[in-house]
Amino acid sequence: MSDNNFVRPWHGIPREQIDWHPTVVAERCIGCGLCVTSCGRQVFAFDYLSNKPVVLNGLNCMVGCTTCATVCTQDALEFPSQGFIRQLVRERKLLRRSKDELRANREKYDLMLRVRKCMPEACPAPEAS
Ligand code: SF4
Ligand code: SF4
Repeated sequence: MSDNNFVRPWHGIPREQIDWHPTVVAERCIGCGLCVTSCGRQVFAFDYLSNKPVVLNGLNCMVGCTTCATVCTQDALEFPSQGFIRQLVRERKLLRRSKDELRANREKYDLMLRVRKCMPEACPAPEAS
């Protein structure tokens, strides 16, 4: 389920095909809400009756992100293993895809171009010869 526009293909893979989102382990959760207030993608809602977070928009979760689990002091959020992502990378040939994207979008990713853009005085463009 998802109710906003965070759902986008991940490296060309439809988001619906990737089972990546947190699962709340209710027995360990103390209801602090830090996961809810830390997530910038509105994945969680908070159930004020049970005092627990609820994964309402799992597809909004950024594939590979585990920020909410990192900040949870109770280890009350679980994700698929890192191996799940690595396997996806291998199976869908994402290394090649990433290289192609770097090549095709140099103006977007190039270090020197970006430094020049935000600090032109620190990194002037080379003079034409
Ligand atoms: S951060 Fe952890 S303990 Fe706090 S509400 Fe979320 S799952 Fe529960
Ligand atoms: S992993 Fe990241 S995007 Fe996904 S729910 Fe947690 S904080 Fe939000």
